Amino acid sequence: MAYLNNEIKYVKGVGPRNAKLLAKVGIKTIADMLFYIPRDYINRTVNKPFYQLKINEYATITGKIINIRIKSKQPYLPSSVKWNNQLIITITDKTSFIQCVWFNPSQWLINQFEKGQQVIVSGIIKEYRNNLQITHPDYEILEEGKEANFWSSREILPIYPLSGQLSNKLLRNIILHIFSREFYIPEILPEYILRKFNLPSRIDAIKRIHLPEQEQDFIEARHRFIFEELFFTQLMLARRRLIWHRQPGNVMVLKKTLTTQLKHSLNFELTSAQKRVIREIVNDMQLPFQMNRLLQGDVGSGKTIVALFAMLLAVENGFQSAFMAPTEILATQHYFSIKSFLKGLPVKFALLLGGYYKGKKALKAQVEKGEIDILVGTHSLIQKDVNFHKLGLVVIDEQHRFGVIQRETLSQKGQFADKIYLTATPIPRSLALTVYGDLDVSIIDELPPNRKEVATYWRTEKHKDKIIQFIRNEVHKGRQAYVVCPLVEESEKLDLIDATNTYEQYNHKIFPECEVALLHGRMSNQEKDEIMSRFKHHLIDILVSTTVIEVGIDVPNATIMLIEHSERFGLSQLHQLRGRVGRGEHKSYCILIAHHPISDEARLRLDTISNTNDGFKISEVDLELRGPGEFFGTKQSGLPNFRIANIVRDRKILEQAREIAFYIIQKDPELKHPSNAILKKHYFKYYLKKEKLFSH
Ligand code: ADP
Ligand code: MG
Repeated sequence: MAYLNNEIKYVKGVGPRNAKLLAKVGIKTIADMLFYIPRDYINRTVNKPFYQLKINEYATITGKIINIRIKSKQPYLPSSVKWNNQLIITITDKTSFIQCVWFNPSQWLINQFEKGQQVIVSGIIKEYRNNLQITHPDYEILEEGKEANFWSSREILPIYPLSGQLSNKLLRNIILHIFSREFYIPEILPEYILRKFNLPSRIDAIKRIHLPEQEQDFIEARHRFIFEELFFTQLMLARRRLIWHRQPGNVMVLKKTLTTQLKHSLNFELTSAQKRVIREIVNDMQLPFQMNRLLQGDVGSGKTIVALFAMLLAVENGFQSAFMAPTEILATQHYFSIKSFLKGLPVKFALLLGGYYKGKKALKAQVEKGEIDILVGTHSLIQKDVNFHKLGLVVIDEQHRFGVIQRETLSQKGQFADKIYLTATPIPRSLALTVYGDLDVSIIDELPPNRKEVATYWRTEKHKDKIIQFIRNEVHKGRQAYVVCPLVEESEKLDLIDATNTYEQYNHKIFPECEVALLHGRMSNQEKDEIMSRFKHHLIDILVSTTVIEVGIDVPNATIMLIEHSERFGLSQLHQLRGRVGRGEHKSYCILIAHHPISDEARLRLDTISNTNDGFKISEVDLELRGPGEFFGTKQSGLPNFRIANIVRDRKILEQAREIAFYIIQKDPELKHPSNAILKKHYFKYYLKKEKLFSH
């Protein structure tokens, strides 16, 4: 072990200058270097003669440098061309030629090459003006000399993540020096897991990942580290879930009084997904533990009624329920829909909003005495002076809009209160297993029948006149429209300017005969609520807005969602925006205007959204395109910082790791069994803290 903790600067050939470069990427000790995993490999066993190369294939080739040239940008080239110099190196294997091209090469890079050198390069083969080219290839110069001999005799060479002046040559030589001594890396996975999943030991995997003899070596080694990383995270989530489950809870009994009355009074049939989810929740609430359940369902899937069944179960057991929404308008909307569902039922419900108003104090007194069964409200519910008599269930709408502390504060107002978190963002399974992996998850994956799909089209700006004419017709028929403005990345200020300009245009030039209003993020919540409420009451025909329109807002008469510069929006965001329409009896339309240049990826997004209304399908494509880190945008976290695993690519391993981790924790929560001893050691050292700090 001592050897592994040695500082890297004492390894032969490193020295203070390189030590600094290494420290920048986090390599300070020998152990750090060993766990600095190659990002890729050059595989010379698949070396092809040049004449057999095909365009667009990824290839690794060996050849001799016969020409080195630096080309400057010609004045006639447009300013959109972003390079000033090109380094062009021509290599040959005597069967043909190929050019390696670097744009804006550093002097350091230029100095690496000399005519006559043998090089290995890999990258994607392209054709440019009848020449085969690889741009910015991974490369390897086959040098003479002692150290070079070792690497030039290897068939597979590791390529490390580099930054600054760090070179593969340096990293490889350090690895070679480290490997020249015996060392030992303790195993952290029990034997039975290694055997079950056919994983190499940790030390074996480290050796194979840096010095693979064949492709299989690094594939298996990588697999092991991916598994290891996902497994420990799942172990943590399993333990957190267990902690939730161990907290004593109230036992609700299915009395079938209020819940049955509600069921009979509905003027629609619950979807089978709603029935299943209600069953999951009801089962959970009957257990003597606290419920922590995430309820996912696309907009319009009917989450409110599901939550209401749970609230009534609490009420018929003598408990109160609280329903918290992020804005006044949403809280008010929930209040009214609960009011219409509960018509004729002996349930007392009320709405608590922020600020001072008449009757508020009296309402709080009633809540405290237990005279109110269901209290709907905004953040006002978590104020210090709001006390419940006996709070048994907390429902939080659009849960990601609240902080952990806010959510906790509300549930702390009851003893052992059950919790349901609602979200309208369909989250792909792999992400949900990781970010919400400690919660129980219920999914409503079905929309109520005879819901009309929103007809979605994407068009370029040249069709704008026609589109405006179409909107005019709809508005004249008495419908309303949303116009969502260009999203300027990370600049609320520019967003605002764009939205304001668009608003001016729509208000004065395009629709002078209509009532047009502007809604943006710089407005206070009160101003926003006021405008939304005027829109809801049809005092506004066309609402021009940035992307701030409420997710849950229900304006059935709004049938048009026009999105400007839709090529700049993410898929999930487009889907969320589209969910604002299609909520009433009239046919609804989502029209996406795209402006050139439209990238291939933007086209894929626009095609996807036009072809399906299924939020889960859309979220899977979105995750695929954006990757796990970007999926929630910048704010939301809860996604562990994986070093090697990628939950999209490694979905299968994630499922396996989760299954075994949850099984182990169920059988042996404190990891006391001797067969789990090594697990316990690693877990308690590195993950216990994460377990405590983890939040969604
Ligand atoms: P969301 O999941 O977006 O919160 P809501 O709960 O607001 O959806 O429901 C949207 C609308 O659909 C509401 O008007 C609700 O009454 C209605 N609804 C809910 N479930 C059904 C169903 N099974 N059949 C028909 N309409 C339903
Ligand atoms: Mg809702």
